[in-house]
Amino acid sequence: MDFSYKDYKALIYALNQTGYVICDYDSWCNFDRCVILRHDVDINLDTALDFARIEENLGVKSTYFILLTSDFYNLFSAKSRAILQSVLNCGHEIGLHFDETQYPETIGKPDMVTSKITEEAAALSTILQLPVTKVSMHRPSKEILKADMKIPGMINSYGKTFFNEFKYLSDSRRRWREQVMDIVNSGEYDRLHILTHPFWYLEASKGLHERLKEFVSNGNPERWDILDNNFTELPKELAKDEIL
Ligand SMILES: [Zn+2]
Repeated sequence: MDFSYKDYKALIYALNQTGYVICDYDSWCNFDRCVILRHDVDINLDTALDFARIEENLGVKSTYFILLTSDFYNLFSAKSRAILQSVLNCGHEIGLHFDETQYPETIGKPDMVTSKITEEAAALSTILQLPVTKVSMHRPSKEILKADMKIPGMINSYGKTFFNEFKYLSDSRRRWREQVMDIVNSGEYDRLHILTHPFWYLEASKGLHERLKEFVSNGNPERWDILDNNFTELPKELAKDEIL
């Protein structure tokens, strides 16, 4: 499976054909054969919204976990809040994507991690004006994976349930560890937990190197546009074509 919208659509089609009900972290136990679709967002919100709309067109509802502590975007900005609202309007749920390395004092201390997750969930809830009841971990340590953390009022997608009772498949670093289509088509597992990162998916798939290069190269014009909104007569000081 490649990283184009077409291939993702083919995955959804295969799930439907093999009898998997697309469910979520609350409803999965009502189904004998089901799949949870999880998306982690840590680099770019625009690609998350593009993906959310693709899924809406497919009639799919899923969960988008958003990193609050990303250095690439500011979730409190009007632009980011509008994007998150649009993701919600597509019918999806938003959860918290949590990076424990942002808090070095909590390393190896699951109780402290739990309270930081609660704090960040409250902040994300303020942004969304909705309760945030799901969390996923960004590059979790072995200690956190082992801890099977219970967070009051929240479902931990890294809890033992979602690893022991589900077949977990992930496209981390833009690489499927196992052939996801083969596993779906085999029908071998009754419960699937599939993690995809919308950042990798495009109308036409690009290689890893090309995708990363494009993202970094687009940073300059994006920065210029933001500065233009905040600096009077920017083009007189720095023309946009100078930085392209
Ligand atoms: Zn992540």
